This record gives sequence, C-alpha cells and structure tokens, in this order.
Amino acid sequence: MSCSKLSKKQKIEEECRVFNENWTEKYFFTDVGVKAACLICSETVAVFKEYNLKRHFQTKHANFGHNLSKEELQKKANDLTKRLKQQQNVFDKTSSLQRNATKASFILANKIAKQNKSFAEAEFIKDCMVDAVSVVCPEVKSKVEAISLSRRTIVRRIDAIAVNIHEQLLTASGRFQWFSIALDESTDIQDTAKLLIYIRGIDENFEITEELLSMESLKDTTTGKAVFCNCMN
Ligand SMILES: [Zn+2]
Repeated sequence: MSCSKLSKKQKIEEECRVFNENWTEKYFFTDVGVKAACLICSETVAVFKEYNLKRHFQTKHANFGHNLSKEELQKKANDLTKRLKQQQNVFDKTSSLQRNATKASFILANKIAKQNKSFAEAEFIKDCMVDAVSVVCPEVKSKVEAISLSRRTIVRRIDAIAVNIHEQLLTASGRFQWFSIALDESTDIQDTAKLLIYIRGIDENFEITEELLSMESLKDTTTGKAVFCNCMN
C-alpha cells in the first residue's frame, strides 16, 4: 500500500509510532519503553509498527494459542505481560545493586588514595565490614560482599579517578582567563627530590580552580627553563 492510499487515521498512527494496546492480544507483544517485546520469546522489535509485530508473530509463533478461545488468549496475554514485568523489575533491581556496589568501591578507592593507604588494605576493610554487618545487619551482608575491593580493582578505580580529575582540570583550564603557577619541592618515599607544580586559574565567571598540575623528578641540573617547559606540557 502506498503512502497516498493510507487513511488519515492510519497515517497518524504510522507517524506517531505509538504502541497500540490491541497488539498485545493480537500478536503477543507489549510496550517496554522504546521497544516492543515479544511475550513468547522476549525478542524485541525496535519500531512500533503493526506490520513488524504481525510478521514476527506469524513467522515465529504461527501455531501459538491456536486452540485457545478469545478469552483464554486474553488471559494468556495478561499472564505473560505480568511475568515479563516481574522479570523486568528483578533486572532493574539487580542493575541498581550493581551500580551501588561499584559506586561504593569508587568511594573507598578514593579514600584509600587520599589517605595514602596501601591498596591491599581495601580487602581488610571489606573483611571488617562484612564481619560487622553480619552481626548488626545480616540482611545486607550480601550487598556488602558484592562491593569489589580487591587490590586490582582498587588500582583500576584509582587510575580511573586520576584520569577523570585530569580531564576535569583540562576542561577547567581551557576556560581560564588568567592563571598562575606555584612550585614546591618535596621528596617521595625513596627520598628522590620532586618538584610539585600547582596551577591556579580563574575563568570569566570568577570561578577559581586550584589543583596539583604535575609532579616531576628534580635532577641537579634542572633549570627554570626546564620547569617552564614541564608546566606547559
Ligand atoms: Zn517471539
């Protein structure tokens, strides 16, 4: 059928691509947000178009419910919709649990980095938390156990935080109207002299950003020019 032969109502339905409730009983599909999901095989169809849903039903589930009455088909569609929504809820809950566990892992990694603690301490902290909640709040024990705090995870988290802070500083420095550099000298745990370079800048909204820009090893021959070049990199 060409577009010009479509009735006005059909055209509106086609253009709006709204899920039609009747399709649930006709083709066993339900609306799951931006897609339509098949209640029989869970496959999704991206476009709310009757033709697509009908084709799916007729090619994949041609004999489904052929011995059921209209009422039985309605009931079957309702039951399957309920089951799918329940599965969806379980899935949403699981993904929010995972998100929270990852967030907690980032928070603890950030604390460990700020306090200069050994990365391995995170595992000890987790042991302590699990033992403590087992006593005071056993129902949340599994949630605490889901927080990943292994040494390797902490290394990855701290790397990710460092990259993010660096990106934030680059974005902020791109908006600086004026900036100044401050230098300080310190030594690391191996007693190597380090040059700490701080930057402070102000943007057009008078927002001030002050951050450690870089840390460089100091050699005997380090000159002011070398420091300047480091700062500008
Ligand atoms: Zn299907």
